[in-house]
Amino acid sequence: MAKRRIYLDYAATTPVDLAVFSAMRPFFSQKFGNPMSLHSFGREANDAVEKSRKQTADFFGCESSEIIFTSGATESNNLAIKGITLASAKKDENVGMPHVITTQFEHSCVLNACRKIEEQGMAEITYLPVGKNGLVNIQDVKKSIKPGTILVSIMYVNNEIGTIQPIKEVGKLLSEINVSGKHSKIYFHTDATQAINYLDCKVDSLGVDLLSMSAHKIYGPKGIGCLYIRKNTPLKRIQDGGGHEFNMRAGTHNVPGIVGLGSAIALADKQRNKVSKIVEKMRNHLILRITKEIRGVKLNGDKTKRSPNNANFTFQDVEGEGILLGLDIKGIAVSTGSACSAGNLQSSHVLKAIGLPEEESHGSLRVTLGKYTTKLEIDYFIDSLKEVIIKLRKIAGKHA
Ligand code: PMP
Repeated sequence: MAKRRIYLDYAATTPVDLAVFSAMRPFFSQKFGNPMSLHSFGREANDAVEKSRKQTADFFGCESSEIIFTSGATESNNLAIKGITLASAKKDENVGMPHVITTQFEHSCVLNACRKIEEQGMAEITYLPVGKNGLVNIQDVKKSIKPGTILVSIMYVNNEIGTIQPIKEVGKLLSEINVSGKHSKIYFHTDATQAINYLDCKVDSLGVDLLSMSAHKIYGPKGIGCLYIRKNTPLKRIQDGGGHEFNMRAGTHNVPGIVGLGSAIALADKQRNKVSKIVEKMRNHLILRITKEIRGVKLNGDKTKRSPNNANFTFQDVEGEGILLGLDIKGIAVSTGSACSAGNLQSSHVLKAIGLPEEESHGSLRVTLGKYTTKLEIDYFIDSLKEVIIKLRKIAGKHA
């Protein structure tokens, strides 16, 4: 009999929903046209791309022409940050160097895009600290605005600790500054990759000008995502080639991927309320049992302002990698940090940003649930976790 396997790493990626897969299937070998071709094969593919663009735009409450398909959130974040900086590259004598505000605990693609433009002398960056609860303080955002500020980029949900950032409040603050006429326009970008399944992502209610997402976190395929760009936002493309995607992103369309994204985002919208409730209930049960039944455990990130599917713990006297491998032997998949930084043993920049000492961050574990998680799986996971931790503590000569 095949070994039982339990997946609790939905923040790393999700399986493609079978309905999404069915929608994609014809676009590999049957309806394989290039959407830029003028003949019927091309038109058929183009219709599918535009249908998906409409589904995506409906989800965000925007116009279809404001959605650009990319290869995923990494590319969307790069395009947003570098594109805005390039568009305002000229140093204004009155305000100085273009200035970008972000946070210390963004995904590495945002942080590295910011470091790159900083190194190239194109912009000055402020990396805002975050509180111990994993939340950005709106007053810190306000205080860091300078005459040269062109962009604020803050993630909606942190991918490691799941904390939900006050995006609507930042949007409101920036819109007040923008309408005051005292400051040249400050654009607002959010990386909403981990928010799509569970939170309101209407761009007007968030007050964002740019928003990034990725299909593989929402039961869609890998290698496809999008960037919402509000009308009249000055953005320079960063990849040169043909005139695809309103001249903003060159390269032949990934038609099956785009169809998958549209289908997945429409499904996420339909299932959100039901899935959120079920997942949150199981996650709360998990937190309750773990904090009750295992000694020396701490939940990282705010208790309530967190994504319904995320639990991130620190366990005393054990290494997160040890726990991960012990659970893997039992067929259970969890994570020690973000998948992109797992594999290097440096402690997580997110846990560091919330003030966790080095040795504590090494004992951390991220558990993320999804729509296919069951209560039985959760209880089996908790029982297995208890066994693994007791064993590891015994080996280390610590109290179980
Ligand atoms: N931002 C966040 C918050 C993420 O969780 C991820 C995926 N780990 C990314 C960006 C990168 O997304 P992609 O895999 O689509 O490039």
